[in-house]
Amino acid sequence: MTQRGALDAPLTLDHLLIGWRYLSQLRAQYSFLRPSLGKAFVKDLGVARRWKANDVSPFEKIRVNDPAVNPSLNQEAFTNLRNAWLVFNNAEIDEEWAGIIDVTPDSNPVIDKIKAIPGLTVATGFSGHGFGTGSAAGQLAADLVSGDEPIIDPSPYRFDRL
Ligand SMILES: Cc1cc2nc3c(=O)[nH]c(=O)nc-3n(C[C@H](O)[C@H](O)[C@H](O)COP(=O)(O)OP(=O)(O)OC[C@H]3O[C@@H](n4cnc5c(N)ncnc54)[C@H](O)[C@@H]3O)c2cc1C
Repeated sequence: MTQRGALDAPLTLDHLLIGWRYLSQLRAQYSFLRPSLGKAFVKDLGVARRWKANDVSPFEKIRVNDPAVNPSLNQEAFTNLRNAWLVFNNAEIDEEWAGIIDVTPDSNPVIDKIKAIPGLTVATGFSGHGFGTGSAAGQLAADLVSGDEPIIDPSPYRFDRL
């Protein structure tokens, strides 16, 4: 609220490889982003993009994404909070936390069976709306897995639209 959605956006290899798919989002939301080029780019170059079935995948190496906090962004938000509501003048930040938001080019999730890998159904790419939509998304994923009539039209969430 006190940042109007400001987000750190450390550049990685994928920004170069598939960033063009996000151009319309970039135009609409550029003012929220704080892009940077640094350690994240170099670290990302070392992440495997393909692996054999018996190899340890990146998903086993990194079970939980736990990015470092950007204290200056939080401090900025805190200053805005104090300026807007004087009651917070004597407040202090007790704990800080940062997370990663996965975003698809159209901001809709992918909830679909993956034809190339029979038996695999994915529900991902919630684009910062996975709490709110979680229950319905889970129901749709369950319907697809069990072969039941989907509760909603699943076509906006097809994997092959991207
Ligand atoms: C800062 C921030 C603010 C957000 N604000 C909102 C909001 O206001 N409203 C909203 O609707 N959404 C919000 N979201 C988005 C929401 O948090 C996500 O969309 C949602 O949590 C995604 O749910 P998920 O189940 O797909 O993934 P996750 O919640 O990431 O769950 C994946 C789980 O899988 C586990 N896992 C990973 N790899 C493995 C493995 N190899 N083996 C076993 N387990 C594994 C992880 O530990 C994790 O528990 C926000 C996200 C962030 C980061």
